[in-house]
Amino acid sequence: MKVVIIGGNAAGMSAGSRLARKSKDTEVVVYEKSNTVSYGACGLPYYIAGLNDDDNKMRIRTAEQFEAQGIKVCLNSEVKEVDHEQKHVVIENSETGKLFHDTYDRLIIGSGSSAVRPPIAGIDLQGVYTLKTIDDAIRIKEDLVGKDIRKVAIIGGGYIGLELCEAAFLQGKTDIKLFEALPEILNGFDTEISTEVRKSLQDNNIDVHLSCKVNEFLGENGRLTVFQLTMGYLMRISHWLRWERALIPCLLIVSINYLMEPL
Ligand SMILES: Cc1cc2nc3c(=O)[nH]c(=O)nc-3n(C[C@H](O)[C@H](O)[C@H](O)COP(=O)(O)OP(=O)(O)OC[C@H]3O[C@@H](n4cnc5c(N)ncnc54)[C@H](O)[C@@H]3O)c2cc1C
Repeated sequence: MKVVIIGGNAAGMSAGSRLARKSKDTEVVVYEKSNTVSYGACGLPYYIAGLNDDDNKMRIRTAEQFEAQGIKVCLNSEVKEVDHEQKHVVIENSETGKLFHDTYDRLIIGSGSSAVRPPIAGIDLQGVYTLKTIDDAIRIKEDLVGKDIRKVAIIGGGYIGLELCEAAFLQGKTDIKLFEALPEILNGFDTEISTEVRKSLQDNNIDVHLSCKVNEFLGENGRLTVFQLTMGYLMRISHWLRWERALIPCLLIVSINYLMEPL
């Protein structure tokens, strides 16, 4: 039997490893669109914080290690189409741009999620980030520590937003602002808990803005310089701030589900 796996991180490689261990006759082929497999995203904020300065420590196993286990790993290979009837996938190699195809008996989709980039004008300016992948973390850290950045804006008061507040704090940033569109941070928690967490942030000089949405980013020469805020859900401009950076954590993680559309 031949099993094709789409996505080479936690879900995809766990499935692939288990198949390779338990079903020696099964041919396992993994297609991963990035150049990395099997890393622990949970460690990304700690890497940005400087608690770990070696990005290899977040990489759990390499493609070569999986290959030695008998799993064929194709990096930079994005599955673009799935034909469930013909059990056929079309893959694009991002280095050459070439399309090729493969067939399978069973297909495992472990394509995970991608960071939501809200449709805010100017979101593609340099200096505006999302955090999802190891490459995102490397870019954020390079910018955060490599230049004289004091001010950091974090949009979204969920887990990852708070981890980024802590990371910026541990990197010695003195002006950290957190913006949350809802009336309280950590929306999934009871208010007794989220209020205490917010107070703890405020005790550490993190400037928390509740009921506050970002409306627009503006830049000069392609880089973010200003972003415009609205208070509450009224589209009223209340502040104009001039900051060097905004970090947008991936608070809302969506599945990449276009692969599962009927073709
Ligand atoms: C900053 C951060 C901190 C986190 N902290 C924690 C934590 O403390 N505890 C916890 O339990 N969880 C945490 N998580 C969540 C955890 O990392 C995810 O649950 C986990 O990564 C999910 O693994 P996955 O394999 O399902 O998906 P993903 O990690 O999203 O992997 C999917 C893979 O599929 C690839 N792919 C997508 N589409 C295609 C395609 N068409 N063709 C080929 N390849 C494709 C992607 O490139 C990716 O490598 C954190 C996540 C982040 C971003």
